[in-house]
Amino acid sequence: MDWWVSMPKVELHAHLNGSIRNSTLLELAGELGEKGTINFSDVEHVILKHDRSLREVFKLFDLIHIITTDHKIVTRITEEVVEDFAAENVVYLELRTTPKCALVHKRNDSIGMSKQSYMEAVVEGLRAVSTVEVDFGSHDLSTPADSSAISDKGNGSQRKKIHVRLLLSIDRRETTTAAMETVELALEMRHLGVVGIDLSGNPTIGEWATFLPALKFAREQGLSITLHCGEVPNPEEIQAMLSFLPGRIGHACCFEEDEWSKLKSSKIPVEICLTSNLRTETIPSIDVHHFADLYNSKHPILLCTDDSGVFSTSLSNEYSLASSSFGLGKAEMFQLARDAIGFIFANDVVKEELVKIFASAARNLDSWPQSCT
Ligand code: 5GP
Repeated sequence: MDWWVSMPKVELHAHLNGSIRNSTLLELAGELGEKGTINFSDVEHVILKHDRSLREVFKLFDLIHIITTDHKIVTRITEEVVEDFAAENVVYLELRTTPKCALVHKRNDSIGMSKQSYMEAVVEGLRAVSTVEVDFGSHDLSTPADSSAISDKGNGSQRKKIHVRLLLSIDRRETTTAAMETVELALEMRHLGVVGIDLSGNPTIGEWATFLPALKFAREQGLSITLHCGEVPNPEEIQAMLSFLPGRIGHACCFEEDEWSKLKSSKIPVEICLTSNLRTETIPSIDVHHFADLYNSKHPILLCTDDSGVFSTSLSNEYSLASSSFGLGKAEMFQLARDAIGFIFANDVVKEELVKIFASAARNLDSWPQSCT
């Protein structure tokens, strides 16, 4: 495991509220239990349960959203999530989250959260990170000051650095108007590291046509798009999503022959979330996972966690799992991690920095296979 942790990695599919530490979730649920907002004993086993169906996962998200309806909590979880990814040598993180508005909540302290104030709380969380230097895009318009994964603080001491960019998610429960509001907010927040839009939420709810106007508008305005695609069988929607040519898609679990050939000819990169797919049983077992076919046919793919908290995983764990399940060595896995640089939504300045970080890691890693350097 140490080796997978020490390898630099790029994480492009991580939902903020799905990546909350279990310990934090339990602590926050306990506090709300004391206030009487929720019944702690009812939710404790839901939080601690590991094998959840897709339906149960969305029930858990509803609970998480009750627990995190507070700006300070949103800031805290953002800070912790970034720290956790940085601690396992994720050098570039695209963190996605659904901007939320909440009406006055009578029984807890959340008063008047808007989509904008929610996102400001997220950005505050990025600023609050202290264990690692966070670059979230402010230097994109100028020359990068430092291109290593380690930054010099100016006083001789050095600390790790992580690049973080944000994707705003549209929830499939939302209306066209609400989706458009999210896109407008993303455009306003581009100077704060927002680079794109994600479509997610319960895949059995909502219609593609509802979100299309907002997604088209986002793309016209220069935002990148990633779509949760094919988590449940829905050939018509999958075809429509592939025809839209998003920058990436997530999951691609329930594809039929026609959809595979359309995907492969489109070369749309696929965000693969192994543990998530297995836990939610969208894929029955690892030996039939489409990772193998896509990898062997050289289709662009990348490994991601999806919800590291909800599925008790980490990106290092996903690399370890892929390596042992599909018989891939360290050299191949390093190459897979490095290839993900080509699929990030940040600009070329960041890409060049990441290329240098991986080149430097290839020179420095112990017991490194020669073919990688
Ligand atoms: P948030 O956007 O609140 O930061 O993160 C949690 C939300 O992300 C969930 O409520 C859900 O809308 C979305 N999400 C997280 N994991 C998944 C997943 O595996 N599939 C889909 N479709 N949506 C997800």
